[in-house]
Amino acid sequence: MDPVLASAIFLFGLAFGSFLNVCIYRLPLGRSVVTPRSACPKCKQPIAFYDNLPVLSWLILGGRCRHCKTRISPRYLMIELLTGLLFLACYWYFGLTLSTLKYCTLAFLLLGLIFTDAETKLLPDKMTLPGLALGLVFSLLVPVNDLASQFLPGVVNLPFSGDVSVRVLSLLDSLLGAVLGASFIYGAGAVYLRWRGMEGMGFGDVKLMAMVGAFLGMKLTIFTIFTASLAGSLFGLTTVFVVWLKRTHRFMKRLANAQAARRRGWQSAQVVYRNYQMPFGVFLGSMALIAFFFGNQFLHWYGGLW
Ligand SMILES: [Zn+2]
Repeated sequence: MDPVLASAIFLFGLAFGSFLNVCIYRLPLGRSVVTPRSACPKCKQPIAFYDNLPVLSWLILGGRCRHCKTRISPRYLMIELLTGLLFLACYWYFGLTLSTLKYCTLAFLLLGLIFTDAETKLLPDKMTLPGLALGLVFSLLVPVNDLASQFLPGVVNLPFSGDVSVRVLSLLDSLLGAVLGASFIYGAGAVYLRWRGMEGMGFGDVKLMAMVGAFLGMKLTIFTIFTASLAGSLFGLTTVFVVWLKRTHRFMKRLANAQAARRRGWQSAQVVYRNYQMPFGVFLGSMALIAFFFGNQFLHWYGGLW
């Protein structure tokens, strides 16, 4: 890793993270991310460029607005740092290649979607749809090298060869990934709606997984969906369990009857379970981030087990 280039890419990531903060705040509100200039949400004072430097300004101002001293969430700082670190990780992993550009783009989109979903339970079309288009375009530049590229050339006689064939097959892999990701989530959403009588996954999740599929291809899309379901279920179960423990503890003090306290605690936990709405986009997005760094190694190891 070239240290000068690495620092430049990290700083570049911080700047993109700063822009991502604007997107996360404005896109769910349907506002433009270009104009007007950033202003303090409390006192409406425009933020000067020297108070808008990624990370530094937040630290210098102690996480407060210069004018009205309103607290500014440390989330802003965190997103800038995370974007910078992910850009750096892409460079470290893929070197100075088009792959780095592709995965920096995906990391940027995923981080934005994860935090928007966590905060507003929305996955804005203005992130997922351009993301889907970018994923398809990138497949022409960086081979997806998934099932179609691996198996089709041996099965059918392609009317083209060499570089053209690599690109066409890569685009096909990207398209198949998008279709698989979208239809899987759409189907799972329909099953979930029947089973629990409420919407667990919306069209936002469908479009998110179309985007992820276009970037990663079919295998890693399946990896993303399965690990995200696992992580989401574990998170849900842990939440219910923690509620049960806490409520039981509280009823113990009030009721002085252990059995009744446990029963009341369990009733509370059931209410939480019934009303629990998982921000599934958070898990899908996080697992997609893990998938492009470690997914192939995992699939390789998993395939070895059989
Ligand atoms: Zn202010």
